[in-house]
Amino acid sequence: MYYDQNTIIHFNGEFVKASEAKTDLYGQSLHYGYAAFEGIRAYNTQNGVKIFKPFEHYERLKYSCESVGIPYPYNTDELIEISYEVLKRNNLQDAYIRPLVICTPNMSLTKGKESQLLIAAWDWGAYLGDKMLDIAVSSFRRISPASFKVDAKVSGHYINSIMATQEAKDLGYDEALLLDVNGFVAEGPGANIFVEREGVLYTPQLGSILPGITRATVIEICSELGIEVVEKQLLPEEVKGADSAFYVGTAAEVIGIGSLDRVPFTKAWSEALGSKVQKAYKTLVLEKSHTPELAVA
Ligand code: PMP
Repeated sequence: MYYDQNTIIHFNGEFVKASEAKTDLYGQSLHYGYAAFEGIRAYNTQNGVKIFKPFEHYERLKYSCESVGIPYPYNTDELIEISYEVLKRNNLQDAYIRPLVICTPNMSLTKGKESQLLIAAWDWGAYLGDKMLDIAVSSFRRISPASFKVDAKVSGHYINSIMATQEAKDLGYDEALLLDVNGFVAEGPGANIFVEREGVLYTPQLGSILPGITRATVIEICSELGIEVVEKQLLPEEVKGADSAFYVGTAAEVIGIGSLDRVPFTKAWSEALGSKVQKAYKTLVLEKSHTPELAVA
């Protein structure tokens, strides 16, 4: 699904076949989840294949590694160039790019001695559709900033996301909504949330969430569109039965939420602020805008 016999990845400074690349079973990342990664999208835009906000993603990868002591001897501009080359060598247009930084063998619980970088990519069509998600408040709380670098995209953190997602799916929902350790709304397992109430969009403030690049983009879009965005602590009761809500993320893009704990949002998606944001986001990633401000990624 992600690769076949012909797929080329960039690993350890070289372009190699995914099927032939090898890693070490004694690596620190495999044993302790001590690795950092990114999820980036490339779109087949009217100006050719374009990676959306690559600088922001690779700078976050650097931040993620540095915040947990994973050696990061890489250069953002070079990694962007390599990413385009991975797309080209695999003939990919609409794609998902997955950089991953892993550490070499070290069984002690000390910082990484040496790291290795993988950049893989696979086909992933732009979605941005009308599907609406039914979500549920998870019994799992989002990891605490007192225990983890919540704003870093570190592999081990995703055990929390996997547990929340699987629980939601087992209960018949599309997706989970995690609260922070204090009971305020945090985020989805892999996306940030926005909630509409009386013409204003609310989104949880930074602190217990991953500061999403899509979240920042949506805030920019809203300022262009004259939509007020307020970053604040939200209780689940303030979200339930609100006018509308949506998830945003590199993979999710902008996707409407139909209900929370089976309580529907009251506005039709076509009337919701999220629907306007969704259209503007699509225009932006596909570089179709005629508005100069929105055309700049
Ligand atoms: N929160 C979490 C936990 C995530 O994994 C992601 C996906 N990276 C997001 C939010 C959205 O971040 P971004 O918009 O940068 O993809």
